[in-house]
Amino acid sequence: MVAHQDWSALRAAETERMLAACTRCGACFEACPMIPYAPDARGTDAKAAVIGVLDVLSGGAGDAASRNWISVCTRSGSCNAACPEAVNPMLMLRLAKWQAQEGGVIPRRDAAETMSRVKVFARLSFSEKEQGEWL
Ligand code: SF4
Repeated sequence: MVAHQDWSALRAAETERMLAACTRCGACFEACPMIPYAPDARGTDAKAAVIGVLDVLSGGAGDAASRNWISVCTRSGSCNAACPEAVNPMLMLRLAKWQAQEGGVIPRRDAAETMSRVKVFARLSFSEKEQGEWL
């Protein structure tokens, strides 16, 4: 129980730190390599997208662009390198994703569906023997 309380407190503290430290400059959005793959975020104003993410982080619903950005994040870390304020936008998006999933703002990923995709890709690279052993 103590560990859970510690984690919740750490998460709350990190959220507060990010909300205070972020200047909403949009550099993290502009550096994100996943935006071309996020139809609702593509072409969006970078500052507005960040404001949306911070809204989600605060328990709000954000907007379609920010939710899409949160959903496609693959944790490349390109945003962290671009951030001039050491906010850690990669973690900011991660925390926003948890917040959004907990609040029903974005759906949780279906693990069964994910596993079936993993198996499809594995079959492309595994030998028949490996497929028999591992899949
Ligand atoms: S997280 Fe960093 S790069 Fe992104 S908007 Fe905030 S200050 Fe700018």
